[in-house]
Amino acid sequence: MNWYDLSDYGNNYKRGAVALGLIVVLFLLLNRPTTPTISAWRGENPSVAGLSGAAIQVGQGDTLVAPPGISSDQPWGNPVAANRVVMTQGYGVGSHAPAEVWGAIDLAVDGNGDGLADPAGSVGAPVRATMSGYIDITADSWPAGNHVWVIGNEYKTGYAHLSEFKVQDGDYVERGTIIGLMGSTGSSSGPHLDYQIWHNGVNQNPLNYHPLP
Ligand SMILES: [Zn+2]
Repeated sequence: MNWYDLSDYGNNYKRGAVALGLIVVLFLLLNRPTTPTISAWRGENPSVAGLSGAAIQVGQGDTLVAPPGISSDQPWGNPVAANRVVMTQGYGVGSHAPAEVWGAIDLAVDGNGDGLADPAGSVGAPVRATMSGYIDITADSWPAGNHVWVIGNEYKTGYAHLSEFKVQDGDYVERGTIIGLMGSTGSSSGPHLDYQIWHNGVNQNPLNYHPLP
């Protein structure tokens, strides 16, 4: 084409733009991040989570009584209301790594007292808010399944894979309020709770907030 033939120039420009667009789409597809599994069912082998084989005994409700100095909108205690709660995957390991992004602990219930998490004891176990705050619900998300954030001033706590919600989006709840039931929704290989704590946008190790005795 001639340099002054603007119509041809325009067509080539359009073709170029389309080609560039396709390249960008291809690039985005090829570089799509693979979504890590944020939770795994390790109930069969608690030692994977760095625990001894023994179940961890948790009182019903009393672990949510925070010591003096812990305000109501700071997370404290065990979000799972059951007699025998076990941690099936620890903080910053396996699908919880890197901790800055996927930091969490997985909790399940040892229903029959054999020292291991089991699905029968875990499904439907009440999940409680460990702090006061506003409810932010995401249903059927991936990888978190049915997910609840409890959002306060500085902290927010995340509760994933729920089978059922017991609160509404936008509700204000106090620590101890049952927000949902344990399940296995989203990317989950068995019923458990994936529990996260964030402080001013920084992922925290829930074990520093007394989720287990
Ligand atoms: Zn998890």
